[in-house]
Amino acid sequence: MNTYLSSVLDRVKNEHASEPEFCQTVEEVLLSLEPVIEQHPEYEAVDLLNRMVEPERMFTFRVVWTDDAGRVHTNTGYRVQFNGAIGPYKGGLRFQKNVNPGVIKFLGFEQCFKNSLTGLPIGGGKGGSDFDPAGKSDAEIMRFCQSFMQALYRFIGPDTDVPAGDMGVGSREIGYLFGEWRRLKGTFENGVLTGKDRSFGGSRIRPEATGYGAVYYLQNVLAHEYEKIEGKTIACSGFGNVTWGICKKARQLGAVVVTLSGPDGYIYDPDGVTSSDEKVEYLRTMRASGHDRVQDYADKFGVEFFPGEKPWGVKADIVMPSAVQNDVGIREAEQIANNRIRYYIEVANMPTTNEALTFLRDQPGLVVAPSKAVNAGGVSVSCLEMSQNSEHLVWTAEQVDDQLHAIMDEIYGNSVDAAERYGLGYDLVAGANIAGFERIAQAMMAQGIF
Ligand code: GLU
Repeated sequence: MNTYLSSVLDRVKNEHASEPEFCQTVEEVLLSLEPVIEQHPEYEAVDLLNRMVEPERMFTFRVVWTDDAGRVHTNTGYRVQFNGAIGPYKGGLRFQKNVNPGVIKFLGFEQCFKNSLTGLPIGGGKGGSDFDPAGKSDAEIMRFCQSFMQALYRFIGPDTDVPAGDMGVGSREIGYLFGEWRRLKGTFENGVLTGKDRSFGGSRIRPEATGYGAVYYLQNVLAHEYEKIEGKTIACSGFGNVTWGICKKARQLGAVVVTLSGPDGYIYDPDGVTSSDEKVEYLRTMRASGHDRVQDYADKFGVEFFPGEKPWGVKADIVMPSAVQNDVGIREAEQIANNRIRYYIEVANMPTTNEALTFLRDQPGLVVAPSKAVNAGGVSVSCLEMSQNSEHLVWTAEQVDDQLHAIMDEIYGNSVDAAERYGLGYDLVAGANIAGFERIAQAMMAQGIF
């Protein structure tokens, strides 16, 4: 590895030894940037990479809330404002018990490259809390969100930092967060949050956007191999909002999603989750129940449930990990390769360990696509929501969907171009990292050293 790159990586690994996820994503990105750094000594001259891996700002805050029995609880809230060179910080909030500084930093770093890749004017940020939403009542969720916003509201705004949802934060939570923002600020600046309900400025297609975008990207990948999506089988993990969007679009286009998974195991539906609207919509019912288990699907539709297992042993044309980080390690990657899967399309943020990703990228006949490109449709439509809010306009579903489709095609095309320009051939992983990097680098170079 280039000496400058390895010195940056060593520094990150030393300083963030207790944050393995952050070290992992920095390593994955830096590896792709080798030819860029070699051909552009001007970046090293201004120490651009150390400046990029260091968040502009990161803070924690106390979030205190009272449960229904009157007991007081204290959680930690986080926000990282990672890089604002190309636009206001933009990125979701994750409420999950395993949230810690390393998780927030990894998500924030990924978000910078993803947002840059969209071509839209949004910088990278992320936040959340170690609050566990499981089993909480609606009133408890509301009090937690209100307290969270009381601590955060001074530091965000429609042109400063625009949070949205992520795991554990859906339209209900965004509603409570916005209510508290409006109460504290006394203004209707609804561009401060995205993923809102449509009754107060949410965009059409935002709930579907990540899943739809992933399928539009997949269509580009298939077209490159002169293939069509119709009739293809897809093994998905997860059963949340993203997987629901994938299933909805896959059903429209005649693809067959055969697996879903949860923390409890996976289900296999040979006819396809995509075989009826009822099945697709049941994903939302399961998510809303708060049980966080996929077995309910097997019980309702009479298909097989595999407790404690992941769906990567299943034969399909396409694998789309759409659940959590590091879902696919080397053992799972070997299963995927042995099953002769043709397309490995990452959807969740960093679903693959670096070891597994390297292994999969080396498999002949397997196309690998990275999540920071594939899942960028969600944040893209968030940016379209910001545009609608600032113009006080409401766009039709068709207007939003057409733009989403065009953005995903462009992300794919720019990734392909970037890899080719650096002599890497057809490499969607390196291409996404390079294309994402280039735009931020250009903006940082133009804005001076700080
Ligand atoms: N959390 C989503 C992501 O990972 C959406 C972020 C947003 O809409 O700002 O990109």
